Amino acid sequence: MIPYSRQSIGSDDIRAVAKVLRAPYITQGPKIEEFERVLAKYTGARYCIVFSSGTAALHAAYFAAGVGKGDEVIVPALTFAATGNAALYLGAKPVFADIEPETGNIDPKDAGRKITKKTKAVVAVDYAGLPADLGAMRRLAKKHGLVFIEDSAQGLGARYKVAKVGALADMTMFSFHPVKSITTGEGGAITTDDKTYYERLLMFRSHGLTRDPKKLKEKKHAAWHQEMQLLGYNYRLTDMQSALGISQMKKLNGFLAKRKALAKRYRLLLKGLEHFMLPSDVAGRASAWHLFVVRVRSSKRGARDRVFNAMRKAGIGVQVHYLPVYLHPYYRALGYKKGLCPEAEKFAESAISIPIFPNLTLRDQSRVTALIKKIDGEL
Ligand SMILES: *Cc1c(COP(=O)(O)O)cnc(C)c1O
Repeated sequence: MIPYSRQSIGSDDIRAVAKVLRAPYITQGPKIEEFERVLAKYTGARYCIVFSSGTAALHAAYFAAGVGKGDEVIVPALTFAATGNAALYLGAKPVFADIEPETGNIDPKDAGRKITKKTKAVVAVDYAGLPADLGAMRRLAKKHGLVFIEDSAQGLGARYKVAKVGALADMTMFSFHPVKSITTGEGGAITTDDKTYYERLLMFRSHGLTRDPKKLKEKKHAAWHQEMQLLGYNYRLTDMQSALGISQMKKLNGFLAKRKALAKRYRLLLKGLEHFMLPSDVAGRASAWHLFVVRVRSSKRGARDRVFNAMRKAGIGVQVHYLPVYLHPYYRALGYKKGLCPEAEKFAESAISIPIFPNLTLRDQSRVTALIKKIDGEL
């Protein structure tokens, strides 16, 4: 099976992890801050905090934004469930905004229409690795006094105008799941320029505890004293994972270049098909090419599923990204209904992610495109 994505691990990565396994600290040691410094430098953000997963990082970011019971968080409908779930964790309500049909990214106009007195934060997802309309989202958040969070789980290394993503929203989340730009197994991070968010994120990551003398409520205290000041979690990344992350970061630009070259070759090989629409390029936004999502264009019912089944049968691990979050049974039981975001629903019904990852061989890519051409003739 050719998967739609997979990690690229080399012997250098393995050596880096093995070295930590022999070191005094395998968690809460020096590799964590080193990884954070590398990520902050790469993205241009002042602060970076790594977490045990991208989902944990989102939970922390919504918490740091002050999201709580009864608040609303605007998120795009076309995303991984975690973008919505993190609001539910805090007793808040995810409010789904529709997408721009060309990119799959949140439609800032629809996000604007969904703002109420209860809205606390707006979230943009860099779908497939392509930055959302970050300028419009930022202006919207500013105008209404909302926190702007970017779920860039898929976008490490993507660019919006001249800047890399990571310092363009109030907080930006990255994921290091094996299919993402770089991997630590499980893992995630938040980048931010804001010191207050940074401090809250740090405490949230580790039980709500602090040892910072300037922060302690108890002024006369013993040397061992630490205080739990908010209800946090254990969302820490380990030193072994951080060492893997540091090693992967050395290769990120190479990974991105390979993904970009594969995307370019897909465009060339799949040009002019009748039933397949290729992803849109947007001026001023450079994708990290996490996914290559083609859309099946056909008046026949179930055409996408026919393509999906034919490709799976031929050993090509295609995927669908995503069922609009509110159509999952858990969300339907909360009262969300079909028809809420028509563009996201249409997109999801036609989308199919075909393989793209740094180690995809040209030969395997050609197998994928040959099959798509054959299916195009049969549809
Ligand atoms: C991968 C992903 C997440 C979750 O990240 P994990 O590290 O798997 O927890 C959240 N949002 C989006 C858009 C993602 O692609």
